[in-house]
Amino acid sequence: MRAIQMVDLKSEYQRLKTEIDTAVIDVIESAAFINGKPVQEFSNALAAYLNVKHVIPCANGTDALQIAMMALNLQPGDEVITPSFTYIATTEVVALLRLKPVFVEVDKRNFNIDIDSLRKAITPKTKAIVPVHLYGQSCDMEAIMQIANEHNLFVIEDNAQSIGGDFYFKDGAVKKTGAIGTIGTTSFYPAKNLGAYGDGGAIFTNDDALAQQLTMIANHGQSKRYYHEVVGCNSRLDTIQAAILNIRLKYLDANINARTKAADNYDAAFNDHAIIKSPFRAKNNKHVFHQYTLILDSDKAGLREELSTHLSGKKIPNMIYYPVPGHRQKMFESFGGLQYDLPVTDWLTERVISLPIHPELDEEQLNYITTSILEFLQ
Ligand SMILES: *Cc1c(COP(=O)(O)O)cnc(C)c1O
Repeated sequence: MRAIQMVDLKSEYQRLKTEIDTAVIDVIESAAFINGKPVQEFSNALAAYLNVKHVIPCANGTDALQIAMMALNLQPGDEVITPSFTYIATTEVVALLRLKPVFVEVDKRNFNIDIDSLRKAITPKTKAIVPVHLYGQSCDMEAIMQIANEHNLFVIEDNAQSIGGDFYFKDGAVKKTGAIGTIGTTSFYPAKNLGAYGDGGAIFTNDDALAQQLTMIANHGQSKRYYHEVVGCNSRLDTIQAAILNIRLKYLDANINARTKAADNYDAAFNDHAIIKSPFRAKNNKHVFHQYTLILDSDKAGLREELSTHLSGKKIPNMIYYPVPGHRQKMFESFGGLQYDLPVTDWLTERVISLPIHPELDEEQLNYITTSILEFLQ
């Protein structure tokens, strides 16, 4: 059996080697390292894939969130509602811009922003909602957009983990995650579903004026060189990364299908288990399985850590995403972060464990993983 990786970037490179090497060498030979042709080509291709009017490339997914919030002209103290159960980047940029992160609960089944908790958190100071499509599954964008419209709030979709996902609206409309809210953001960190061979990110919107503002902010606040209209930053997608992403985008749907097959295989093995709960799949969206995250539905202290040690001993990588939720991070102490009472978030934080998932997993590896888990938790 081949060694099991949490994410197997080497095998995919071996399959695409000729295509990738040629694209990278072309960039080097052209010497157009900054804003070379592949950057615009990739932005156009991604816009077509997502069916969104504007894609603004940038340096990483954290910058994408920051630039999005800067473009909305939010003022210090404005409240931004986000789930506590997410990667730190989502909430960190809120605090960085001196806005107030307001942490809300997630749904106990699908790890995404809880709609009741969201409604209750709205105050006259609320300006924006940042739903995070965690692990590859869309939030309930129908409910979120309705609440945002009722209260005149911006919606910034953090789509770093769910690029390629679909949300199905009740009227039959199907939209790509990240292309639904006021602005969507994503990350091309190598381990993401659409990963580069280094850092990268992008911002999406259908609003022409907003697109102009986002583009300007990502480029030192200028639209004409050396004439700076607003305070911005320097956040660019590298040309070599864009050339690689152009190739990887063509395989995104095939990769999502392969991930889903692996997830189906896991689901079948854990079906109806007393303790192991497979990821819930809501009917209103297409899951893209950035992660395959189990809930160990047991109150036995230390069970998850014992399973993790057991798997590591058998050379099966496994991860806890994320061991500390936002409302318990020291960095948010001065933002009132530690005063929250989010029992569902705490409950999940103690019970989640993510298994290897990527397009290169074969049946032998999957069987070895599921057998090892079932023999431990029988
Ligand atoms: C990866 C990630 C980010 C940040 O992306 P970077 O490219 O690493 O800056 C933001 N939000 C979520 C949910 C992520 O998973």
